[in-house]
Amino acid sequence: MSKIKLMSEDLANKIAAGEVVERCMNVVKELVENAIDAKSTCIKIDLIESGVKEIVVTDDGVGMDKEDATMAFSRHATSKLKTLEDLFNIDSLGFRGEALPSIASVSHVILKTSNGEVGTEVIINGGVIESINNSDLKKGTKITVRDLFYNTPVRLKYLKNLYIELSNIVDYVNKMALSYPNIKFVLTNNGKELLNTDGQNNLLKVIYNIYGFDVSKKMIKVEGENKDYKINGYVSYPEITRSSRNVITTLVNGRVIRNNDLIKTILEAYHTYIPDGKYPIVVLNVEVDPYLIDINIHPTKMDIKFSEFSGLKELINKSITKELERLALIPSAKPLEKSNELKKDETGNISFKDIIDNYIENKNDQVSEETKEYNSVEEITLDFEGNNIELPFEDDKKTRIKKMYPVGLVHGTYIIAENEDGMYMIDQHAANERINYEKYLKAMGTHDNKMIDLLIPIKIELSNSDYIILKENFNLLKELNFEIEEFGINTILIRSHPFWLPINHIEESIRKIIEIIISKESFDSYKFTEKVSITLACKMSIKANDHISLEQMEYLLDTLRETENPFTCPHGRPTIISYSKYELEKLFKRAMN
Ligand code: ZN
Ligand code: ZN
Repeated sequence: MSKIKLMSEDLANKIAAGEVVERCMNVVKELVENAIDAKSTCIKIDLIESGVKEIVVTDDGVGMDKEDATMAFSRHATSKLKTLEDLFNIDSLGFRGEALPSIASVSHVILKTSNGEVGTEVIINGGVIESINNSDLKKGTKITVRDLFYNTPVRLKYLKNLYIELSNIVDYVNKMALSYPNIKFVLTNNGKELLNTDGQNNLLKVIYNIYGFDVSKKMIKVEGENKDYKINGYVSYPEITRSSRNVITTLVNGRVIRNNDLIKTILEAYHTYIPDGKYPIVVLNVEVDPYLIDINIHPTKMDIKFSEFSGLKELINKSITKELERLALIPSAKPLEKSNELKKDETGNISFKDIIDNYIENKNDQVSEETKEYNSVEEITLDFEGNNIELPFEDDKKTRIKKMYPVGLVHGTYIIAENEDGMYMIDQHAANERINYEKYLKAMGTHDNKMIDLLIPIKIELSNSDYIILKENFNLLKELNFEIEEFGINTILIRSHPFWLPINHIEESIRKIIEIIISKESFDSYKFTEKVSITLACKMSIKANDHISLEQMEYLLDTLRETENPFTCPHGRPTIISYSKYELEKLFKRAMN
């Protein structure tokens, strides 16, 4: 027998109290899982106003007879659950039917169902059965849940952030579609289709429906097996990553399980292929004898413990690395279809360095013919750069540090500098980050509508749930002076960008900005611009082991002195550590007290 933790009484009460039904997503989840349990091959979810106004789930499953239909919504007669063991049966989806009474108590419900013989219609308002009639439905079940939470104070909470509510539902339905490629899922909101899979049991096609063409063509099939485990699924090329681990979907025996050990193992296989904080798109199913797992069920999530995990770990690692290595060996396997602009981006060096180089070059009047066009665009950045830095060094009122003269670089990271007061160690990345951060923050705050048109518009394809969030926040991008338009399914087209965008990293920066929006953290416009500034600043700054010349160091230090807060980077780390002349003398016992 598998070791299974039984549901505590407290937990059961919480479910009964409706804790499970605190979001629209929980209602959709309950109804969809009932439809799956009813052996449906097609499940349609239609929402109005993200489900707050109305949720309709229609399936073609086995349906219920009149007695079951009447009982389904009463708390003390869970006809579907005979025993507790039933509840934890690995084949069922958990709290079957348990949440229906809770849903009915906070909404208006119309249930139409038919087992193929009789059709029944039950109408319930606020948990009270109003009527039971015959229905014309031929087969399956259609549940309509209206005005969710109408009789509770939480309702208002949901009306504020409808699109977050919606994106959670889309995320959930996506995962269900990935776990059941043999079931057709259709999801709409206010009549607009958000997902439509074909139910033909083709996982890659479902991935395409969710993440779009650009992603689906860069997925690799993985499979493998050992004595205890069998795995199969798809993993993305290392170049296809996202900032949220939510894009890693792990299934155990066909059921979505969020398990940290599994995610960690997958990420280990990608180690050195993708940067920290980035996640590959993965759908991985693990098949295992239920005896080897220990399931722990909470009302809102489900976790699992594997015995013999080391065997599973090795299997996953081997199967994924094998494919990634193959990819690295055969360069032609990587489709070469990036635009020229992107290539230029990738070969381009660190922006600040470029700017300094250009600055110095321009001063020396040595701009070659070929680079003229490039520089004419760059000048815009330099103009701005000029405004920012023009303060004469003598005017020390504004600077908080005296001029420092660089002497050299230590460990490719720390600039050593001196002046008559003492010695300084400057973290070149942190210093550059501070400069860039203030630069971006200022540029975004000016509301100057200088825009740069793109020769070739940049196309960005997103997953359906990310697209919802982005679309809802187009204004954030527009305020920053991006010219954007919708372009086909879950795709946007960027036509112009604000002048301050780092010229060699246009697409990359746009993607970063979009990621910040999608992270759902910073919708208030100030926090948003701050986050964008920090992210771009970090990205565009000199890294450790970027060797810059003494002249460039001097420029960097001079610019740092002009910043509002030269002492820390935007993440709060120190930029400068100083030793006064006196401190040095003390350290060397030249000064005795
Ligand atoms: Zn950084
Ligand atoms: Zn930093």
